[in-house]
Amino acid sequence: MTQEQAENDVCEKTEGWTHEDVGKRIVKRETPNGTYFNELIVNVFCQMCAAEFIGPSREAGGFLGGHECLHAWEFSQVMGRNDGLTE
Ligand SMILES: [Zn+2]
Repeated sequence: MTQEQAENDVCEKTEGWTHEDVGKRIVKRETPNGTYFNELIVNVFCQMCAAEFIGPSREAGGFLGGHECLHAWEFSQVMGRNDGLTE
C-alpha cells in the first residue's frame, strides 16, 4: 500500500504538465542543460500580471524570476516617464 502511494506521487511526463500533476515528482528529466532528478511539479503564478505556470520547480523559478525581471523593467520605464524622460 505504501509503495503504491509513493508511485502515485510520481509523474512519468517530461512535458505538458497539468493541474493533476501538481505535487508529483519527476524522477528524471533530461534537458540540454543537464539531467534533473526528483523534481517536484509546482503551480505558480505572477502577482503582477496573473500569468500562471505548471511545471518542474526549476522552471517555475525561471518563470518567476523572468516575470520579476520584466515587471521591474516595466516599472523602471514608468518611473522614467514620471521623471520627464518620456519622448
Ligand atoms: Zn508577470
